[in-house]
Amino acid sequence: MATTSNAIAQANSPRPALWANVPDEQWNDWRWQLSHRLNSVDELSQIIRLTPDEIQGLRAEGKFRVDITPYFASLIDPDDPECPIRQQVIPHARELVAFEGIMTDSLSEDAHSPVPGLVHRYPDRVLMLVTTQCASYCRYCTRSRIVGDPSAMFNKRHHDLQIEYLKRSPQVRDVLLSGGDPLTLPPRVLEDLLRRLREIPHIEIIRIGSRVPVFMPQRITDELVEMLRQFHPLWMNIHVNHPREITPELARACGKLADAGIPLGNQSVLLAGVNDHPDTIRQLCHELVKIRVRPYYLYQCDLVQGSGHFRTTVAAGLEIMENLRGHTSGYAVPMYCIDAPGGGGKLPVMPNYLISQSHDHVVLRNFEGYITSYAQPTNYQRPRRNKFTGPERAEPGQEGVAALLRGERLSIKPESWDETHIRLPDDAISMSDLRSEQHPPEDGEGSVWTKIN
Ligand SMILES: *Cc1c(COP(=O)(O)O)cnc(C)c1O
Repeated sequence: MATTSNAIAQANSPRPALWANVPDEQWNDWRWQLSHRLNSVDELSQIIRLTPDEIQGLRAEGKFRVDITPYFASLIDPDDPECPIRQQVIPHARELVAFEGIMTDSLSEDAHSPVPGLVHRYPDRVLMLVTTQCASYCRYCTRSRIVGDPSAMFNKRHHDLQIEYLKRSPQVRDVLLSGGDPLTLPPRVLEDLLRRLREIPHIEIIRIGSRVPVFMPQRITDELVEMLRQFHPLWMNIHVNHPREITPELARACGKLADAGIPLGNQSVLLAGVNDHPDTIRQLCHELVKIRVRPYYLYQCDLVQGSGHFRTTVAAGLEIMENLRGHTSGYAVPMYCIDAPGGGGKLPVMPNYLISQSHDHVVLRNFEGYITSYAQPTNYQRPRRNKFTGPERAEPGQEGVAALLRGERLSIKPESWDETHIRLPDDAISMSDLRSEQHPPEDGEGSVWTKIN
């Protein structure tokens, strides 16, 4: 566990006896880590006392790919099946069980892909899947439908199509490289992609989503960091779920990236039995800010095959958020999100702090349950656009609820709402017939009839 910076600079995680004699030079070489990954009962039994359920999971036909770097495997508690590291990467018989609500492409990414691997769901940013390969495979992978499959690779032709789409899409200002894991790409392929993205003038920021620093911190070499820093502004999100993953090796990798000016965020997935206790997430967030990683999102587990036993209630997530906000640094508090099944994007959820409101007051509560009021101005005017206002950005069809607030739209209707609500009179009586039968309208009444007509 990361403690003082001195300890981080020197220490290494202890290695199981199996690898005690591997020279440091090899152990610290990411290519050695990749080529010595473990995936079978025989290999894993050499370092872990596997349970019958794990053996059944490992031997299952057609299961999602297993591969674990020796470094990450060395963090596993060999004797305790509840080990949070172990549960994330070693299959369990329970992952073979289907559950209600399971979906193959739960976020409808494929339907949002104008070219293979490019998910364009939001107005100004895209998710660019550049590889299907990872350093190790998370059992709850949201993209297990394509990830890990050696017959479903993205190649140069796909990358070319993705770049071509981005060149002709000037509304895209933010490109998020993901996969699979972009940091498992051959170094020259990654550099070439970053260079071609940087040549597109309307792309303002590039982000990389990677679990390589966690699975294989050896990959974060000085050369890699020197290469990445040519492409600023470049941001990176890593993926840590449990404080035990924060080792001196990860701390050093994040230190290098942060020193190169790459702002670091973390995305965690809330996993039953792994990190669903408020004390675990609090400790995780504290350890993350110590290594200069800002907790970004805490995700509700997606409705993906194999992840049923990891799912929690949303209530569990809300209770965790209640235990963070106010109790600790705002920098250590992630946003809790449910990625909308069917493809609505990330939906933030949090406890309610706004309790009530009147014309001139809002009533709020804090984390301690202290209830207060804020007096609102009663003469506030909406801001008017002037030369100091930022530029407008068109979001055709995606203006959303913000357009309702501006009064530009009256309503947003569910699918076939109009058809459902056209109930024409089934015989000769129409509104105008009715009106001619009415007595003359009294004050105020007439306007109602006019509106209905
Ligand atoms: C998560 C995601 C993004 C990025 O979302 P942010 O909230 O900006 O981090 C973009 N596109 C897709 C399809 C995503 O799933």
